[in-house]
Amino acid sequence: MIRNIALVAHDARKSELVDWVKFNAGSFESCTLYCTGTTGRLIKAALTEVLGDKIPEIHCLLSGPLGGDAQIGAMIAEGRVDMLVFFCDNLIMQGHQNDVMSLVRLASLYNVPFATNRSTADFIISSPLYKSDTYERIIPKAIENYKNRKL
Ligand code: PGA
Repeated sequence: MIRNIALVAHDARKSELVDWVKFNAGSFESCTLYCTGTTGRLIKAALTEVLGDKIPEIHCLLSGPLGGDAQIGAMIAEGRVDMLVFFCDNLIMQGHQNDVMSLVRLASLYNVPFATNRSTADFIISSPLYKSDTYERIIPKAIENYKNRKL
């Protein structure tokens, strides 16, 4: 079951992510949300508008450019994120582009369900697997192989 959801949006796409979160407000009931700082602040306000004091637990990490993307990347590597929604600005390079690329790489490496746009986020959240108690994400063998590589 998806419990720990990481949410990040660059400035040009924050309103898109906030709209998506509001539309799906009821789907975060038993979830904990981990967001980069500014994204989290906006999401908390938006969910409070829709759900009042029944909002899910929301953790606002550092702002992305100040290390928030790196914090989420580290959480992924520690197995603490079940799903990532990351709406990047695809039209401009970020000052923290290296952190953006690192987060994308780690989400891919650890086989985390990962949406970079709204339609993919819709497909993930409406999948029966989103609420499944039995589905277990496979951790790719490449990780264990890498740890045990011969040197
Ligand atoms: P922010 O960070 O939510 O603090 O704006 C997002 C990002 O740029 O990664």
